[in-house]
Amino acid sequence: MNRSQNEGPTADALVARDLRVVWHPCTQMKDHETQPPIAVRRGEGAWLEDFAGRRYLDAVSSWWVNLFGHANPRINAAISAQLGRLEHVIFAGFTHEPAVRLCENLVALTPSNLTRCFLADNGSAAVEVALKMSFHYWRNVGRARKTRFITLANSYHGETLGALAVGNVDLYKDLYKPLLMDVLVAPSPDCYHRDPGESWQDYSLRQFAAMERLLAEHADEVAAVIVEPLVQCAGGMRMYHPVYLARLREACDHHGVHLIADEIAVGFGRTGTLFACEQAGISPDFLCVSKGLTGGYLPLSAVLTTENVYAAFYDDYARLTAFLHSHSYTGNPLACAAALATLDIFVADDVIAANRGKAAYLGARAQRLAEHAHVTEVRQCGMIVAIEFAKNARIREPYNWTDRRGRRVNQYALEHGVLLRPIGEVVYFMPPYIVTESEIDLMVQVAADGIEFATCE
Ligand SMILES: *Cc1c(COP(=O)(O)O)cnc(C)c1O
Repeated sequence: MNRSQNEGPTADALVARDLRVVWHPCTQMKDHETQPPIAVRRGEGAWLEDFAGRRYLDAVSSWWVNLFGHANPRINAAISAQLGRLEHVIFAGFTHEPAVRLCENLVALTPSNLTRCFLADNGSAAVEVALKMSFHYWRNVGRARKTRFITLANSYHGETLGALAVGNVDLYKDLYKPLLMDVLVAPSPDCYHRDPGESWQDYSLRQFAAMERLLAEHADEVAAVIVEPLVQCAGGMRMYHPVYLARLREACDHHGVHLIADEIAVGFGRTGTLFACEQAGISPDFLCVSKGLTGGYLPLSAVLTTENVYAAFYDDYARLTAFLHSHSYTGNPLACAAALATLDIFVADDVIAANRGKAAYLGARAQRLAEHAHVTEVRQCGMIVAIEFAKNARIREPYNWTDRRGRRVNQYALEHGVLLRPIGEVVYFMPPYIVTESEIDLMVQVAADGIEFATCE
């Protein structure tokens, strides 16, 4: 049998070709001289398999997108069925059933004030849409001075210039500052920095005082506050108490400022509820979702907003109040079909309830790492668990960043069959919800050994 025809290229050949033409995201390509990319042949459930037949447990849901496993039969079937009917159609002047049903479902599932759904094709685009809509809303209602945004320290909202501007992770942002709009930054409610003995609630409340001052001082010029509800994921899986969101909602109402909830990473059950905002009992003015929306299958995002915002754009064309924003693949029917199948699984399998048991198990297993000499904290919010380590855990003295200790954990874990991708010295689990207890045991064991390996001299 001719191997190249029947089985495709060998891994080495494929990687060599890759390195000649491909430029990978978020990567110093020179690193691939010592750690080449892994050529994946197939995925099934929580597992990825490379060309040599080695398997990797996908403990990070392939960058936080996958919810119900790779090659999920139910999502596969939904996409296949849609593929036979309609692959794509322009979404201005046309509509289709998958998009209508998806928007209906999202309106029904999200907090009650959200009644309108605008589709885009990735998370950063959704953030751009929310920022532009908020700014534009204030113009349309005659408040043209409201042009600025408040964001939280250590936040992340994507990579396009508007989204990058409202983010606050220096590693991604610093270099591009000359290109970015100026934003107001409030301290993060992130509870890693709470005093010994201080509760999450007390610390998050204490941090809110500065946000309140910023709002009081700048409300006239501020269009919106943008936050990642409950977990600042790219900022190192840093977590805070829902009371912060409740207070923020009240303050935004009081000062006449929009609240944008970026649930691109935390939406669809990651924090233990379908949306993180539910834990604070709030309804934002804009809710951005993407990542898990299609179960990790296809690029799609949505911005949900209120009837009040929608109405401010609704007028005769000549008044030029319309939101003239578009993306070519807006409302892609295949992506909508994947999203509908994903939402169906939540209902059919009572996923949020089932995840409670899994989250408790994962948290309990991970908690034993808190005893490790270099571990500063093990923290959890629903199905997200993070383990932070440092050179001197007691005084939280960090390792020199050029040591790249987190990368050592990544390499160790890959050699031992688990895909972990630490953020700095934060090792985290954000597994697909189909993960089993024995798979959880494996990912925690390999993380523990990997941290030991990365801190052992
Ligand atoms: C990933 C992420 C984004 C950006 O989404 P992309 O699809 O990668 O552009 C925005 N906000 C948050 C909170 C995210 O985690």
